[in-house]
Amino acid sequence: MKIQFCGAARTVTGSSHLIILNDGYKILLDCGLFQGQDAYNDENNLKFLFQPEEINCLVLSHAHIDHAGRIPKLVKEGFRGKIICTSATKDLSEIMLADSAHIQEKDTQYENKKRKKRGLGLVNPLYTVNDAQHALKQFFSIKYEEWYPIREGVEVLFRDNGHILGSGSVTLKIKEDERIIRVGFTGDIGRPNRPILKDPKQMGDVDVLLCESTYGGRLHEAFPDDLNHFYDVIKSTCIDRKGKIIIPAFSIGRTQEIVYMLDKLHHEKNLDRIPVYVDSPLSTNATAIYKNHPECFDEEISEHLKSDPNPFGFNNLQYITEVEESKQLNFQEGPAIIISASGMAEAGRIVHHISNNIENEKNTILMVGYCAKGTLGARIREGEKEIKLFGEVKQVKAHIELMDSFSAHGDQKEMLDFLDNLNRNDLKKIYLVHGDYEDGQLPFKKCLEEKLFQQVLIPEKGQTETI
Ligand SMILES: [Zn+2]
Repeated sequence: MKIQFCGAARTVTGSSHLIILNDGYKILLDCGLFQGQDAYNDENNLKFLFQPEEINCLVLSHAHIDHAGRIPKLVKEGFRGKIICTSATKDLSEIMLADSAHIQEKDTQYENKKRKKRGLGLVNPLYTVNDAQHALKQFFSIKYEEWYPIREGVEVLFRDNGHILGSGSVTLKIKEDERIIRVGFTGDIGRPNRPILKDPKQMGDVDVLLCESTYGGRLHEAFPDDLNHFYDVIKSTCIDRKGKIIIPAFSIGRTQEIVYMLDKLHHEKNLDRIPVYVDSPLSTNATAIYKNHPECFDEEISEHLKSDPNPFGFNNLQYITEVEESKQLNFQEGPAIIISASGMAEAGRIVHHISNNIENEKNTILMVGYCAKGTLGARIREGEKEIKLFGEVKQVKAHIELMDSFSAHGDQKEMLDFLDNLNRNDLKKIYLVHGDYEDGQLPFKKCLEEKLFQQVLIPEKGQTETI
């Protein structure tokens, strides 16, 4: 058997790895979008390293776009096999892929307007909303912890890795030439002790492992008391100063964690007079999907559900999908909490909310996650005093607060803990994927070698290895 690394090789996006059995049967692990530049313009996204019609089956670790975002293109170009994933991944993929297609249609329309004026050739979106809907028909969900036979001699198992709703590590048991080879793929490794989701569950023994390495070179800061920190920000902003808190948050995962914390605070403290808005159609839809998948919940929220059947809703919380209602928030007086996407504040409704509120010293912009260099979120985090928004220079007078404990990715130590049970004699090779080469993969390789793992390799994109 061979493995070809087709994406997320020495980088963090575009997750895609191809397993080619000796008889030619092809299993693709993930089919993610390369992010960071316009999708329609990125050679990495435009060309697959294989013929889509030759792929027999796709196994999907979770619904994040850097893992699932090229599925509609794969189907459009001839892939006819099953897309195997968990039930929650299937539901989340439906809204994520539709959203991704919508963004691509809008981006290319805008680009083509400019191109027409300049007499240049037009570009096509990577795929359309229609293509995304079409691809959904091939999704096929299986349960966690149950071996599913893909074909004779090949079985697959998902195990909850606590990263996002429905995410799982993947283990393949492949019988070939009278030997059984166990291939593991960690997917994205989550974190223990986070609200809502179960802690990551360690994998069983494997012979070869494809392992993520996003935070292979860093440790997350520990925040022992999120809830109190959050309450302090609410008290000083909304109660003492009568101001607004603006929170840029990713639609899936982060938004639900924040809403759940607010739900708990709402029950514990009297926050009745502070209206809360989740202003994002994708977040609204994702929250509905969270509610439908209690099988992914940890004990703490399951217990909470007994006294509060809706942990993502309370009296003064309103989900907003319509643009007009979103605009109305600009005119609202008094304290409020507005949670909106995107998480790095580089696009979406959040940019308008920041623009409308950043010059008022009563308000707080609460940053709850990593922001890539150059994004508006990163500039706010770095404490810039002047920011240009919609062509206008704005003075940053609002308070800036950081809460960094919301990462969905395990850090170096958490990933090492996740892998620590694996039998070093059985596991011949670890291939590091999904990480920055210098900052994530090289330091993580060193740690794994210190932990006595046999061979740790960092493949390049397109590289093929014989197992
Ligand atoms: Zn992910």
